[in-house]
Amino acid sequence: MPAKVTSYDRNNIFAKILRGELPSKKIYEDDFALAFHDIHPKAAIHVLVIPKGEYVSFVDFTALAPPELQAGFWRAVGAVARKLGVEDGFRLASNIGPGGGQVVFHFHVHVVSGPRP
Ligand code: AMP
Repeated sequence: MPAKVTSYDRNNIFAKILRGELPSKKIYEDDFALAFHDIHPKAAIHVLVIPKGEYVSFVDFTALAPPELQAGFWRAVGAVARKLGVEDGFRLASNIGPGGGQVVFHFHVHVVSGPRP
C-alpha cells in the first residue's frame, strides 16, 4: 500500500497554479474555486476544479473545510459543467490518496465528458 499523504505541501503543482506561479488554461474562477483544462486530457472535455484552500484530498476537504467553502466549491463545479455545456452528460471523479491513484495532493475534481480520445 502506498504511503498515506497527511500534510499539505504548499509547493504542489495546483498550489502553484492557484498562486499564479504556473500557467493554466483557466476556464472558470470565483471566490471558492478555480477550474482549468487538464494538461493530459483523457476525453474530449477534461477539466479540473480545485478549491481555494489547502486541502490534500476529498476526505480532507469534506472533513475540514468551512461549510461556506464546501458549498461554494460544489456550486462552482456545477457552474463549470454549465459553462462547458456538458450539464446533460458528464462524469465527476476524484482520486483519493496514493492508493486511489491521486498524483497531485491538492483536492480536485475531474469533470470529464465526450468520447475518449
Ligand atoms: P490525480 O491526482 O490522479 O487526480 O491526477 C492529477 C491530474 O492533474 C492528471 O490528470 C494530470 O494530467 C493533471 N495535471 C498535472 N499537472 C497539470 C498541470 N500543470 N496543469 C493541468 N493539469 C495537470
